[in-house]
Formats: sequence, C-alpha cells, structure tokens
Amino acid sequence: MNDTGQLNGPLRLVRSDDGLRVVGRRCPEAHHTTAYADFVCPDCGRRLEEAVFGPAGVVWSYTTITTPAPGRTPPFTLAYVDLADGPRILCDVPAAAVPTVAVGQRISVVEVDGRPAIAEEVSR
Ligand SMILES: [Zn+2]
Repeated sequence: MNDTGQLNGPLRLVRSDDGLRVVGRRCPEAHHTTAYADFVCPDCGRRLEEAVFGPAGVVWSYTTITTPAPGRTPPFTLAYVDLADGPRILCDVPAAAVPTVAVGQRISVVEVDGRPAIAEEVSR
C-alpha cells in the first residue's frame, strides 16, 4: 500500500491493490468510528485507536450537484458511503456509475483524480 497523504481535505487515504482505504480511528469499545482526527470517543471518553477502513462500503445517499464548485464542473454526483464497520465518507460518483448508483448499493471505494470514488459492486 502507498500512503497518499491527505488527498481529500482531512481524509488520510491509502491505496491498495483492491481499492482505497481510509485511515481513521475507532473506539476500543467499538462505540464510535471516524475518518477524521478525533481523539476521544464521544460516547465513553476513551482514547480512539488508529484503524483502517474500506474499501468495501454501502451507499447511504447520493445527490447530483448542478451549481459550480471549485475544481468541479456541474453537474457532478456525490455519495455518502458507509465503510464496512467504519465511518461514513463523501465520495465522488464517476459519470459512468451515475445511472446505476442506488441507496444501499454495495460498492468498493477507489481513487479517481486524487479523491475517493465509488466503483463496482462488492460481490462478497
Ligand atoms: Zn467509546
């Protein structure tokens, strides 16, 4: 795996052969996971431990943006993805995947243009 650093704001992303992983944190009592630099569990106050999540996930929701944003040409589609046993992250939906993206869809997270993006359905 190659550590790509912070390619998407505060997210810490790591490339692997089967997709993109997010380095985040997890409560040792499994109350809470995060993709960001939180250090204390909001539920129990224990210190969070570093954990790696992905690339498998499920689309929680998605939307198509029709207004301009820096570095993007509208329309473009974004999806919130719940990583398996991990946090929810924002991903790009590549144009080829827009016709089939669906809430509840099982996907893999990959890197496209330096950002997390959804890819093919996960078969397992
Ligand atoms: Zn906790």
